[in-house]
Amino acid sequence: MPLLHNDIENEFQAGNLDQSWTDTELKDKALSNHLPKPPLAEIEYRELHDDFIHEELHVEYFTERTDWVEIGIPADISNEEIYRLLPSAEDFEYGGYLTEKAILFIKGDESEVKVDKTKLCTFHTHPTSSKNADMPSPTDIYHFLKWAGGVRTITVGKKWIWVWDKTVPVMNTVKRLKAWEEENMWNAIQTFFQTEKDEDVFKSYYSHVLTELGLIWPENYPDLPAEEWSALLENCLSIKTQLILRVE
Ligand SMILES: [Zn+2]
Repeated sequence: MPLLHNDIENEFQAGNLDQSWTDTELKDKALSNHLPKPPLAEIEYRELHDDFIHEELHVEYFTERTDWVEIGIPADISNEEIYRLLPSAEDFEYGGYLTEKAILFIKGDESEVKVDKTKLCTFHTHPTSSKNADMPSPTDIYHFLKWAGGVRTITVGKKWIWVWDKTVPVMNTVKRLKAWEEENMWNAIQTFFQTEKDEDVFKSYYSHVLTELGLIWPENYPDLPAEEWSALLENCLSIKTQLILRVE
């Protein structure tokens, strides 16, 4: 496929990684390997994603939430131990982000939580009572690829925590998504508005896009073991999953 993969790879090899990332959180990352290392210089990285629509409204939402909870991250513990500090609940979702020294989060509802997509290291949790608790949803996968935030995206399930990074190979998939959507998004969404109930349009659209990008989603979903769906994501979309048991 005529993609920019080689260009990205060359940038990566040349060491032009993140000198231009000016975000203070990112400076912190030099001290903390629980935060991500962006695969590209910021400007190129952002160009490969869509801008977050309504970014101001998006930021306002999080500024206006007064119920943020903060958990301090102790020094000298491993990434796995840090991620095991992430909260979860039986019947609703949490969402938030990590900085060098803290985990910050808000509460969502039983099937959704808004996550600040301007942050570098984001997470959300699945209700542990859900039968889908230990699988990513098509929406999760789509959002990971679609937006510039969440260079590292962490999900907390029931038995598992899983970590996705925007690596050079993932950026290739990001590029494919962008190219596909430029051609097809409008028509596809129009079609789903005619065939689906309004509330299902975007879920159907996300599944459709992932199939178009080559993800063969299994018929026995949602009963697929984590080792199997993670292999599938890597084979089809180059998304490598780090699986961490919540309780060691
Ligand atoms: Zn999810």
